[in-house]
Amino acid sequence: MDKSLTQVHCNRCECSTTTDKVNGWRVFLYNGLELPLRRTLGWCKQCEALVTAEEFRDINLIIKEMGELVRQVSALEKTLKTNYWQRLLNRKLRRVRRRSVENLLTLGAELDVARQRANKARCVCCDSLDVEVIDSSLNIVEQFWQHNKRNEVATGLTHPGCGGEFVARSNSKVAVKHATATSSEPLPAANSHKQDQQSVA
Ligand SMILES: [Zn+2]
Ligand SMILES: [Zn+2]
Ligand SMILES: [Zn+2]
Repeated sequence: MDKSLTQVHCNRCECSTTTDKVNGWRVFLYNGLELPLRRTLGWCKQCEALVTAEEFRDINLIIKEMGELVRQVSALEKTLKTNYWQRLLNRKLRRVRRRSVENLLTLGAELDVARQRANKARCVCCDSLDVEVIDSSLNIVEQFWQHNKRNEVATGLTHPGCGGEFVARSNSKVAVKHATATSSEPLPAANSHKQDQQSVA
């Protein structure tokens, strides 16, 4: 695995930190279900520092995925121009339905915990939910790869009290270049966990 480090520093003062968790994912176990939990960087108001924070995926995104699953199943049903009993016994449809139910259960559990936390990120140091994190739609590591020459990426995260903005910088340029030369493996996307889960199910 590529252990690339990211340095995040304020563009107005000396405040900075180095992390390998600017946009990582880990598995959160909830009633035996494996849910994706994002690890990123944020500003904790309790710690008054840049901290590692964890958050579940956005509630609206989870609901959207649930809707897509239901639509996929009914679209498949419509392609089968057969009667009720033939549909009931159709192997592919049964397999897709079973998998959809499993995925819906997992998404439902994810929605449940995301709601319990009011869609907020949690500081891993003090457990506070008063944390401003880097937006999950901003894939900083991918930006480093896309703009090889531009080595700084604005995080959109402000430094309270100071008014500066935190800027991310790849701290392992040599390692990244070496990786491109030797491996054609794609970058892990934000939804790679989901794909893993589907191949396991
Ligand atoms: Zn700078
Ligand atoms: Zn600052
Ligand atoms: Zn904290």
